[in-house]
Amino acid sequence: MNSMNEANARVAEKDYQSVWDACLAFIKDNLPGRENEKVFDTWFKPIVPVKLDGGTLIIQVPSPFFYEWLEHNYADLLKQAIQLTLGPQGCLQYSIVMDTSIAEQPITTRIPAVGGQSTMNVPRDAPMDIGQGGRVLPNPFVIPGIQKVRINSQLSGSYTLHNFVEGECNQLARAAGYAVAEKPGKTAFNPLMLHGGVGLGKTHLANAIGLKTKELNPELTVLYVTSEQFMQQYMDAGRNGTTSDFVHFYEMVDVLIVDDIQFWANKAGRTQEAFFHIFNTLHQSGKQLIITSDKAPSELQGLETRLTSRLKWGLAAELLPPDVETRMGILRQKLANDGVEMPAEVVEYIAYNINTNVRELEGALISLMAQSSLNHRDITIDLARQMVDKFVKSTNREVTIDYIQKVVCDYFNIPIESIQSRTRKREIVQARQLTMYYAKKLTKSSLAIIGLQCGNKDHATVLHACKTVANLADTDKQFRCWVEDLDKKFKE
Ligand code: ADP
Ligand code: MG
Repeated sequence: MNSMNEANARVAEKDYQSVWDACLAFIKDNLPGRENEKVFDTWFKPIVPVKLDGGTLIIQVPSPFFYEWLEHNYADLLKQAIQLTLGPQGCLQYSIVMDTSIAEQPITTRIPAVGGQSTMNVPRDAPMDIGQGGRVLPNPFVIPGIQKVRINSQLSGSYTLHNFVEGECNQLARAAGYAVAEKPGKTAFNPLMLHGGVGLGKTHLANAIGLKTKELNPELTVLYVTSEQFMQQYMDAGRNGTTSDFVHFYEMVDVLIVDDIQFWANKAGRTQEAFFHIFNTLHQSGKQLIITSDKAPSELQGLETRLTSRLKWGLAAELLPPDVETRMGILRQKLANDGVEMPAEVVEYIAYNINTNVRELEGALISLMAQSSLNHRDITIDLARQMVDKFVKSTNREVTIDYIQKVVCDYFNIPIESIQSRTRKREIVQARQLTMYYAKKLTKSSLAIIGLQCGNKDHATVLHACKTVANLADTDKQFRCWVEDLDKKFKE
């Protein structure tokens, strides 16, 4: 009888419970160290035998960490126990209960605990944590088709394609995203680069593509990370000596989404390098990359050129500020989701008046709803006007010094060039001082910049002008009138 048959014959006589009981008895007797009873209770009692499959005993362990620990510390002991009970060909297979919201089933990973190879090759590094529950199993004995490591994709369930309102402003990006979700890595859109200004839906769309990909390809591993998280993990890995685990982990992903890659600009040189290599490996093996950034690849400054050149390989789809129809659609959807009713004219008023980005659109809507419910006021166009005024004026319209000069000069009916001139004529001096005052008040420009643009003055002159205007507005009736008028003009 050869040894295989021998093993099978032995196995046939046993059920998994008794096999495991025999293993436990052996382990208990042979645990090294003084605290062995405690060790036994902690690490062996919680193990549940689940099946005997031919010559393989399947045991369930409560977490990936548990598995790691056993493999690091007790692989030899387990190997001896299995060989003793199942014969030299016996195998041990772990079923790991993953603590992740998306793991419907326990993960099974197969380790030839006995046989030709030694299981002690498992790296000693601690497993890497990716989000809650997603863990790397640094197991070199991956048997294709059996090992299924599930990681937490870190996708948010609320940013879906379904609630991403379509418009001309996002048509290309959305369509490309859908194509990618259907055939990740198999389209020309690799990488898919989504770019556009703040609040225009990059994170929402990237996340939505990730969700759709999972829905259409449940077997694929999708991972969303912000570039900041990626950098942090990379630095942590460097500190802990687990860089190879870090790289290995990312190279295991089928669809990698990195959000806000511009964050690496002018820093994170080594992170960029690590990402460059991961990018290449994934791309070469037909895996999908989805990247977002606030600028097009060609305008991304401070990133390594070899990286930005990779980003140009696929499709760069821009998200544009939404047109008024899309803005209306987004507002209606948001209202429907929240079960709030609002007069159509109010919705229109907001949609027409906030044209910067979706985040501010939503912000205005939320503050309007909050105002109305807190103060028990009806949502009227008047209330909307107040909210929009507050919102738009305080956050959006960043006026320029040029614009301020124009308003002030128009008001006094003087030519705009006179601000730049060296004349000491009283009305020009006053207009110049008012321009400086409003530039200080309404822009983020420094005193030096303001001075430079208002007749090449120094910062002390600007400071003096600001004080003078404030004083005169307090003491001089005529001057106060001008300031009040101009205040109004800048609020229009
Ligand atoms: P970005 O990442 O480009 O700064 P986000 O994806 O965070 O922007 O979007 C800001 C907000 O606007 C989010 O609440 C998002 O759900 C919403 N949003 C953006 N575009 C759309 C859209 N087309 N349809 C519905 N909501 C949108
Ligand atoms: Mg974002």
